Amino acid sequence: MLRRTAMRFIDIGANLTDPMFRGVYRGKQAHEDDWHLVLDRARKAGVEKLIITGTNLEEANEAIDVIKQHNENQMLYSTVGCHPTRCDEFEQSPGGPTEYLNHLLKLAQENPSTVVAIGECGLDYDRLQFCSKETQKKYFEAQFELAEKTKLPMFLHNRNTGDDFVNMIKANRHRFTHGVVHSFTSTVEEMKQLVDLGLYIGINGCSLKTEENLQVVKEIPRDRLMIETDAPWCEIRPTHASSKHLAKIPKEEMELYAPLSKKKERFEKGLMVKNRCEPCATGLVLHVIAAIRDEDPEELAEIIWKNTSNSFANPTDVMPTPLTNRAPKKNSNKKISSPSVSKAKATQDSLAGPLNLASIEKPFKSSKYKTPKKSKNLKQILAAEKTQDLDLNIPTYQNIECPPSILPQQKYCDITGLIARYTDPKTGLRYHNAEIYQFIRTLSVPNVQAYLASRNAAVVLK
Ligand SMILES: [Zn+2]
Repeated sequence: MLRRTAMRFIDIGANLTDPMFRGVYRGKQAHEDDWHLVLDRARKAGVEKLIITGTNLEEANEAIDVIKQHNENQMLYSTVGCHPTRCDEFEQSPGGPTEYLNHLLKLAQENPSTVVAIGECGLDYDRLQFCSKETQKKYFEAQFELAEKTKLPMFLHNRNTGDDFVNMIKANRHRFTHGVVHSFTSTVEEMKQLVDLGLYIGINGCSLKTEENLQVVKEIPRDRLMIETDAPWCEIRPTHASSKHLAKIPKEEMELYAPLSKKKERFEKGLMVKNRCEPCATGLVLHVIAAIRDEDPEELAEIIWKNTSNSFANPTDVMPTPLTNRAPKKNSNKKISSPSVSKAKATQDSLAGPLNLASIEKPFKSSKYKTPKKSKNLKQILAAEKTQDLDLNIPTYQNIECPPSILPQQKYCDITGLIARYTDPKTGLRYHNAEIYQFIRTLSVPNVQAYLASRNAAVVLK
């Protein structure tokens, strides 16, 4: 089923193995299984990909089974790990903690096209009645080994743990590539610490409950944001600070992100169930974030898509949808005219990138872009930059501050594929010099991506 919104999302945290999606509430069947309808609604609402949270060995197993049976269009993925409140299971396991950990490891290793992260794991001191601090810490520590061995990113959970969580992350940071702290509800200071450690921040309805929450979300760097629903939990409720921002969402979109609902006792096939959050609500989270940050929703959605697809891609998988496969936007007035390009001459130098701009005779056109008066064409700029003729006082990639997770040897420009000199601090896109930066900045990120798609070019991963 085709999505009906211009935006596309990856819900990084949906508990789709929860019995509620089979119509079972507290062990009682309240209505028929509507799991597939939940997925249909999600797709219509732009959720092209969805990561099912594996909260323990059993549920991670179940998630992988369900995905194998039902995966359509490579929409569903899963995490493998053990939630802090479930960590007693390590010790209750018949074969002991080592065996439990090995089972998790095996599950992740044997399903490389399905499992995209280790987790959820972490610490939760709000719910110590389920598992003690000591046990939580012991088995959070143990799960870094899973990330280390599989090289998968981590899907992390943290609630009210003082400095314990951050300290454990710091102590183990060298053991995992990167990760996301999902359902973030903590302070600006903690968010900054985590961002400095190279982590992403996952936002859902629970992260947007209070005015203080909204202030924190405002501060998250754009290239560190991810969105989720945590369905069936964490819906945006009328009492939340976020709800006032829903009023600005266009009606057609509201119908997709928040379709009609009925109480579970009055279940009607095709409608949502009251108070059971669903992945189709991902768009609501996006809109609230865009509204409080005063950003363009479509542009922000694409940045978040990119943050997520880059982070959760695994070597055997094709998690990032090639942009060329995207459904065309209906009535889009943001189309970029394709420049006429001479057949790319194979050059022997370093100009081979995903998009060889040096071979393009005319720079691409956008009605929004006006050629700066003194500007040379893009080909000349690139040539000049290569021979260091341009003496512009701009930062080189050596002195751009970067979290450790994105410190590769070379920084490629996402647009040209060449080694870039300048990073837009807001979008994380890399450009060559101030002039090219100004040139590309006038196009919004979706336009740049649409342009790349029209050139059958890929966006280079950081
Ligand atoms: Zn969680």
